[in-house]
Amino acid sequence: YLRAPRTLRELLDATRAHGDRPFLIADSGRYSFAEHHAAATSLAVHCLGAYGLRPGDRVAIAMRNLPEWQVAFWACQSAGLVAVPLNAWWTAEELAYALDDCTPGLVIADPERADRVAPWTTAHGIPVLTDLTGLPRGGAAPEVRIEPTDLATLLYTSGTTGRPKGVEATHAAWCAAATTPRFFAATSVLCAGGDPATVPPQTVLMTFPFFHVAAFTTMFPLMASGGSAVLMHRWDAEEARRLIAEHRVTTFAGVPTTALGLLDTADAAGDELPGLAMISTGGAAAPPGLAGRIARRSDGRAVARNGYGLTETCGGVIANLGDRYLAHPESIGRPAPALELRIADPAGRTLPDGEIGELLLRGQSLFRGYRGNPEATAAAFTDGWFRTGDLARVQDGEVYVLDRLKDLVIRGGENVHCIEVEGVLTAHPDVDDAAVLGVPHPALGEEVAAVIVLRPGATAGPDDLRAHVAGRLAAFKVPAHMVLRTAELPRNPTGKILKRQLREELDALRASTTRGS
Ligand code: ATP
Repeated sequence: YLRAPRTLRELLDATRAHGDRPFLIADSGRYSFAEHHAAATSLAVHCLGAYGLRPGDRVAIAMRNLPEWQVAFWACQSAGLVAVPLNAWWTAEELAYALDDCTPGLVIADPERADRVAPWTTAHGIPVLTDLTGLPRGGAAPEVRIEPTDLATLLYTSGTTGRPKGVEATHAAWCAAATTPRFFAATSVLCAGGDPATVPPQTVLMTFPFFHVAAFTTMFPLMASGGSAVLMHRWDAEEARRLIAEHRVTTFAGVPTTALGLLDTADAAGDELPGLAMISTGGAAAPPGLAGRIARRSDGRAVARNGYGLTETCGGVIANLGDRYLAHPESIGRPAPALELRIADPAGRTLPDGEIGELLLRGQSLFRGYRGNPEATAAAFTDGWFRTGDLARVQDGEVYVLDRLKDLVIRGGENVHCIEVEGVLTAHPDVDDAAVLGVPHPALGEEVAAVIVLRPGATAGPDDLRAHVAGRLAAFKVPAHMVLRTAELPRNPTGKILKRQLREELDALRASTTRGS
């Protein structure tokens, strides 16, 4: 395991020690650590030379999960440029919104996204680089001075609760996040408190989109430990199984939705996920049954891990793992050693264990601020503590996230936490997926509604599902309105349910019918 770096350039340069070990494996090509380092270095020189960029300038990356995405990102780090990973799913309009916000001096894109950014780059006279293959290799790295306090990245939040915000993070914050291997390294040995230095490098099936912070939490420790990342063109559970077998993948990394998809195909095939030592999820709430399903399906051989984090915390900062996860399947686990947390009331006062309030975090791996938005930055902190916007409680050292503050349903003064009700609904054998949200009610203010995706062949109706919830939760939490469907729920690339969209669908449905179900 590499010595703790102070900047991401130092992390990149240190990976030369891994030499010819495979780093990036994709159908479109492979890079060893040495090849990746050479490619990133020559692109760094090219960015500074051919485009006249200066350290501190921003370079936007608009690509699917290709190995060249990593080359582009690490070229920025080698040159002291600020990397701006853009959501690969964004439309031309969404890309233009972020490009207006980050004003890059160069966009590095794959051909498909080059077309999508073209209206903006043409209008603003900004160059687009699409071919990284023809650059000369083997030259010296750029001679630039990079301080730990310099900005390394500008990442956009998922935009689940509003327009995406540009999150600025320094090298120091990323290094603090990346150098907590005991906590993050994707290996089951660590569950037993093992030393990361003694753990063999892992081969990870990387299904997180590279532009999302959860991918950084996977990739940085992988680079430090000399492991390999197997990339997918797009998510497909059968293809994932093929890649796991072909490349002897030891660790699956992805959002809970993809992990569930993988388990479904293993159920259908009746095998025990051969070779997998860990299934690691993050980015969105995982259903409480996930850890148990992983243990049962793999006959106890694959360790389950779930990490909690935000773009603003530079990735995963709280995680649940192994036996502890099985014992506390609804918890997001315990914080990273270098992180402080507390639960606070709306006035910022610390609440005792067991009480529900906003989760506040303090530590080295926090962002610097929202780009060009000092008001939002000020509002995100209270006395140096970052306000996550998540409602949580702590019990016996375990952290439980109950909801996002903005998603909380307040029914006649009683708080209903959507994640809790969703967890109960998805535990029903006929339910594949569920979203709980508040709808306006004249007397109660809000009433609880649920959109439920049934499994094929399901026989349960709304009354059965209401009885199922009523048998487990207080009456005021039982959804009054239920919409049953077979179509999947709308989710963003990190698996979060797009509740704004569902609310609009529900409003339209309620307008056309007198009752909700
Ligand atoms: P925006 O701020 O634009 O609405 P976002 O907050 O959804 O976007 P991210 O930074 O991708 O953007 O998401 C962070 C949020 O994801 C957390 O605040 C939390 O609500 C949720 N989350 C992440 N990991 C987990 C997890 N393991 N369990 C439960 N929730 C999680």
